[in-house]
Amino acid sequence: MRGEGTRVVRRGNESFVLSALYLDGPLSRKELSAATGLSPSAVSQSITGLVQNGLVREAGKADSNGGRPRTLLDINPTFGYTVGVAITGRALRIGLFDLSCRRIQVVKRALSAGVQDIDEVARELGIGIRHLLSLSGVHDSALTGIGIGLPSSASPHQAIPWTSRKLESLLGLGIPVFIEREVNIRALVESRLGAARGVGRAVVVQIGLGVEASLVADGTAKRIRDWGHTTIDYGGRSCHCGARGCVEAYVGASGILERSLELPGREFPTEGNDFERLRTLVGSAEHCADARALVQETAGYIGAAVGNLISLLAPARLVISGWAGQLLGSRFLPEIRDAATRQGREHGLSPAAVLLGRVEVDATLTGAAVLPVLGLIKRGTALPRAVAGL
Ligand SMILES: [Zn+2]
Repeated sequence: MRGEGTRVVRRGNESFVLSALYLDGPLSRKELSAATGLSPSAVSQSITGLVQNGLVREAGKADSNGGRPRTLLDINPTFGYTVGVAITGRALRIGLFDLSCRRIQVVKRALSAGVQDIDEVARELGIGIRHLLSLSGVHDSALTGIGIGLPSSASPHQAIPWTSRKLESLLGLGIPVFIEREVNIRALVESRLGAARGVGRAVVVQIGLGVEASLVADGTAKRIRDWGHTTIDYGGRSCHCGARGCVEAYVGASGILERSLELPGREFPTEGNDFERLRTLVGSAEHCADARALVQETAGYIGAAVGNLISLLAPARLVISGWAGQLLGSRFLPEIRDAATRQGREHGLSPAAVLLGRVEVDATLTGAAVLPVLGLIKRGTALPRAVAGL
């Protein structure tokens, strides 16, 4: 019993140390002690174990004001590898990443039956992973896990009718499979590695064609159901959900592009890539008063809608992510902050606590690959079989 208790504490300490190295590494033992609140001896004990098993490595020396140079420690990126999977319509995009989440290779596999047929998903995923391993020369025993990102806009008939356990057993690789919605992945990644680092409670909104939001608290992310279909303008524009005046009808890129077509006498492109169309519209705001009014009004709607989240959920930070969110926020963040904090001011959130996401636009694939890493951090030395088997 006592042995088990010690093991749990040691794993907990290792988990703190690994998180700190992921967030801020490389760090010295002294800096790790300050970052984790652990005693120097507890840090040393954790580091000894983590270096011995290869998860952490020495990363050079740093001066320490005339004293003995301090040894810096960091996550060993080639200790293991993860697989990130994004499901897009009838295809799987499968990426191989090292433990620092650097992308090594990506392949694509088509699914004739979509995601419904787990046997086909397992078969195509297995082929894709073997292809990635042969392209990169990585051995399958170095894989630590597979993360799968589900599109946030998945309609009920796109829902996955199978579990991660079932897929694990069909794949037969002996590594865990994690499945998470895209908005929750973005929230976890922003919380661990991006704009919401270091705060216990954050809301991450994702603005693409549609809109989604997720609350991260105590290390877990929970999608805020139907935020996009709360009313922001009673009796307003009709939304694809059948209601009127929804947040999504004003803030989602589909709604914005639809409104741009109604501008009098203005010709905005009606075909092609949504990202390019929105970028043209946002760019036109520089010289076209109608476009500027529309985009500024949209920034106000985003601000008001996230202000509601701030009032209801009292996060320490609010992060705006997603391709359309980044595009609008890169030009109109001051307006968004102003509208958001005007509404949420009584809860003490300063404008500076409303931030743009820092995760690259292809967040699903990278984010999915982070899921096994987060699992690894949580487990401490519950190591992947490559090392456990040594
Ligand atoms: Zn709606």
